[in-house]
Amino acid sequence: MRNGLKGYNRIITVSLIVLGTMSLVGCGFRKPVSRILFNMDTVMDITIYGETEELDKVEELIESLDKKFSVTNPDSEIYSINQHKETSLSDETLEAIRIACDLSESTAGAMDISIYPIVKAWGFTEDVKQVPDDGRVRELLGLVDYKKVSENAKTNRICLPESMEIDLGCIAKGYTGDKVLELLAKEGVKSAIINLGGNVQTLGSKPDGSSWSVAIADPFDSTKYIGAVSVKNKSVITSGAYQRFFEENGVIFHHIIDPETGYPANSGLKSVTVIGEQGAVCDALSTAFYVMGLEKMTSWLSENERIYGVDVVVVDDDGVIHITTGIEDSFKALDAQKMVIIK
Ligand code: AMP
Ligand code: MG
Repeated sequence: MRNGLKGYNRIITVSLIVLGTMSLVGCGFRKPVSRILFNMDTVMDITIYGETEELDKVEELIESLDKKFSVTNPDSEIYSINQHKETSLSDETLEAIRIACDLSESTAGAMDISIYPIVKAWGFTEDVKQVPDDGRVRELLGLVDYKKVSENAKTNRICLPESMEIDLGCIAKGYTGDKVLELLAKEGVKSAIINLGGNVQTLGSKPDGSSWSVAIADPFDSTKYIGAVSVKNKSVITSGAYQRFFEENGVIFHHIIDPETGYPANSGLKSVTVIGEQGAVCDALSTAFYVMGLEKMTSWLSENERIYGVDVVVVDDDGVIHITTGIEDSFKALDAQKMVIIK
């Protein structure tokens, strides 16, 4: 269990806040039903205004996507492509790879699914985490290049060069959340809030028409919050060093790797939360922005914000909270003194 009890406690706390809020606002014509699952190496909390049969379908869908995306399950599609370098893939795996590669292109490789050999060398997908030998990191960097992931559109096959391996860890939960909300909408559910390991995605509004309030964790103490953002029909997805890390000789090494160096990104940020309509895009971008740092992210946003329609809440190493203008009214910081608007 990668996130351990700390993450679980946080999810329970968020659930209690969400459920408490729901009981205050009334239930509309459908009652809230919830389920807590453990999947994709994390605790998931699904609350819908619907029926338990719909929760069964959600659980089935998450299990089926995990079986496709898992990088460690020998029966998964990602495992298979990493072994054989050419495999025909399901529409979902293909779509997730395409979104990831498009965003790699757009972010000049700040997020890159071919980073996997390096993530593995650091032990982030294993039980034993370790600082790899510097020469080994440099050698593995030669394998990282999303541009070499090629697709045969006729056969739905993806091809990787020899030794390259991919990992959808930076996008899998956001993409899965999108598919869950799509399924619920098809089933006629109008209101739902799902929390996949701290990534919160919402369908519609609360039954009374008001916004969902989503708390954002304090990266300096993830049992606390820096504030909350009000959203309808949006995803609120966070990347942070505090989510997965280990300590060696007093130095913290975390799981978001800078594809330029092969080492944990050291861009002056503690956490990046991306808010937008498409969970997969927010998930990929939160990883990319964490690697880019504030300056590069700001210039990326000035060129691309209109295309992707995202907002951010970024906490830097000094605890300053930077937010974009689009959420000036909807984000409330617990300590407003610490907040600045990104211009
Ligand atoms: P996230 O928590 O969404 O930021 O994703 C981090 C996960 O994605 C890590 O646990 C790795 O599996 C993988 N990863 C780490 N660094 C990168 C990167 N620069 N680009 C793409 N995936 C990454
Ligand atoms: Mg991500």
